[in-house]
Amino acid sequence: MEYEAVIGLETHVQLKTKSKMWCGCANEFGAPPNTHVCPVCLGLPGVLPVANEEALRLTALSGFLLNCTVNRYVKFDRKNYFYPDVSKNYQLTQHEHPSTRNGCVEFEFQGGLARVRIIQAHLEEDVGKNFHFDRESGVDFNRAGVPLMEIVTEPDITSAEMAYEYLNALKDILVYGGVSDCDMEKGMVRCDVNVSVRPRGQDRLGARVEIKNMNSFSGVRKALEYEIPRQVKVLEQGGQLIQSTRRWNDVAGITEEMRTKEHVHDYRYFPEPDLMPFQLSDAWLAEVKSRVVELPLARKQRFMRDYQLPAPDAQTFVWDVPLGNYFEGIARQARNPKAAANWVINNLRAQLTEAGTTLADLKFPPTGILELIDLVDSGKISSRIAQEVFGEMFATGQSPGQIVEKKGLVQVSDAGALEQFCDQAIAAHPGPVADFKAGKAAALNFLKGQVMKLSKGKANPALVGEILERKLKG
Ligand SMILES: [Zn+2]
Repeated sequence: MEYEAVIGLETHVQLKTKSKMWCGCANEFGAPPNTHVCPVCLGLPGVLPVANEEALRLTALSGFLLNCTVNRYVKFDRKNYFYPDVSKNYQLTQHEHPSTRNGCVEFEFQGGLARVRIIQAHLEEDVGKNFHFDRESGVDFNRAGVPLMEIVTEPDITSAEMAYEYLNALKDILVYGGVSDCDMEKGMVRCDVNVSVRPRGQDRLGARVEIKNMNSFSGVRKALEYEIPRQVKVLEQGGQLIQSTRRWNDVAGITEEMRTKEHVHDYRYFPEPDLMPFQLSDAWLAEVKSRVVELPLARKQRFMRDYQLPAPDAQTFVWDVPLGNYFEGIARQARNPKAAANWVINNLRAQLTEAGTTLADLKFPPTGILELIDLVDSGKISSRIAQEVFGEMFATGQSPGQIVEKKGLVQVSDAGALEQFCDQAIAAHPGPVADFKAGKAAALNFLKGQVMKLSKGKANPALVGEILERKLKG
């Protein structure tokens, strides 16, 4: 029998706000333990929460970016549970009225487009972090109360690879939109994976296994690559799967059972009494909507369409937004956008990295690259010399024309001068000359290289080829 996997993901993303969700403590990673805490985020008796407007804004913005309906009505509920990392004994979340619903994420997958539906993206708060030492444990509450958005998908994902690509697409969208930095190293994105298997063609879902608290996308992929065959094997051997929670053991490369699934009512959700529900105004939502940016996939498709770029070049400009914007500034005036993309990606980016500077520090104007391309396209300088000119332009800010003039780099297309170089090369290398005459075409390239050397790279390579061939065949 053939089986298929049914996968849904719940992704938790820390929002990029300056302060926490209900208090003025800094939302900042890496501070000494318990230095960004106050009575509100510690949940001391008698304190009152005040909602962080920017967190609401980023949640609504995420809703727009994920093609969701964004609700005007905002309400929070208490999710009650007891654990050391939640000193309040509850977490505030939008259990009953999520801020956004019914969206989707589209992404490139296996040569086509895949689409995963989003049930909801809602706002909640992060909790503290437990640390375990040799003889004792500790809790750092710096993270407690940091605004956290949970994005829940429909079970539309069918493989480990698809889960991985969805997560990357989601991350790209949220980073693009300025919603979150999604820094995995800093724990800004965590993921719960729901996975079941069923015989292909069966409608009813199999028993669902939840793999909790994954903190890397590759971990999600590895866990699913292990868990799906594990479930299939249990069924194939006539066993039964039960709804349960498992954890991924990265060292052993296996999932391990933690507990059988607790039920939703265990959390005894109820409306937060210290925060009245409220309505967002049309004007407020319109302002948020005005912040919606072009999504990564749309940008890639546009770069490929408008500038005839190959997919890898377009992708580079999706990942590196400032570089892409810089390229666009040039490409709009370029006769040859593909050449401009090559210069920006292969030369400019490399030089910036090497010099440790940014686009803002560039000494030459964007038109410099256009001028350089024109010098090559018109045959005034060779592409090899162009590399040298670019290096000089980057270092000094001088225009390519000035540099070529000053250094005497104009390509030698004067037949008389080239003939001389060719004669010298032929005289100095009788071996390759004999090879060529014996039919080894590759020997011509060697001789061509010698002429380029004699001319210090300034000879017009096409002309050199013609002259050499004529002389050798004649
Ligand atoms: Zn606080």
